[in-house]
Amino acid sequence: MRRLTFAANWKMHLGPGEAREYIKAFLAGFRLPEGRDVWFFPPAISIEAVAQALASRPGFMVGAQDVHWEPKGAFTGAVSAPLAAAAGARGALVGHSERRHVFGETDAETAKKVAAVLAAGLFPVLCVGEMLAQRDAGETVTVVSRQLAAAVGALDSAALGKVTVAYEPVWAIGTGRNATPADAAAVHREIRAWLKARKAAETRILYGGSVNRKNAAELLAERELDGVLVGGASLDPAGWAELVRTGAA
Ligand code: PEP
Repeated sequence: MRRLTFAANWKMHLGPGEAREYIKAFLAGFRLPEGRDVWFFPPAISIEAVAQALASRPGFMVGAQDVHWEPKGAFTGAVSAPLAAAAGARGALVGHSERRHVFGETDAETAKKVAAVLAAGLFPVLCVGEMLAQRDAGETVTVVSRQLAAAVGALDSAALGKVTVAYEPVWAIGTGRNATPADAAAVHREIRAWLKARKAAETRILYGGSVNRKNAAELLAERELDGVLVGGASLDPAGWAELVRTGAA
């Protein structure tokens, strides 16, 4: 049976109290369709509240949006993977385009973060994707391959099997402009081939970039997609519950 993952990136929204209210509203009358997983990436301050509100329900998981690569130390303002784990996180986004392009995170830093997430026993969701000028110059596959090689190229297939890849073209994030299902699938196939060559064919590949209730069905009809990573459209609990049930009976 095809397994689908629906990952919600709340970005810098929803503090602990709001997060608790959100999960209560989301779960009210919600039935998780078989074969689906729902992952929440709240701000670090709300991880514990979300983890407690979900109370280890099967199919649900909480993760951090970012972590520092060191486990502890004098890094004011940063959150490490072990700290996120202690709050209830089981995963972490790494290399989200806002980390790369707003905060100037490098490929070398994403590699250190992936290693730190794995060392803490969490699973990394590695975000990759090209900028508009790179797509227009036909460089999409070169950019994505470079990001994969830098962040997870040194991992063996067992470690690579713990990674989820999220393909998120930068020009589609928060812009209302999403890749067509065929565009997304073409890049997913390249990522899958890259993973297969490293004996990690089972690694999940999510698509992200302005996914919403209206376009989710069309995107998920493309079988190359193992799920979606959603920012803006995950902030409304009722809307997110509907999106997670896309196409379900
Ligand atoms: C994201 O934050 O990863 C994302 C895809 O955002 P949005 O859905 O708002 O484009």
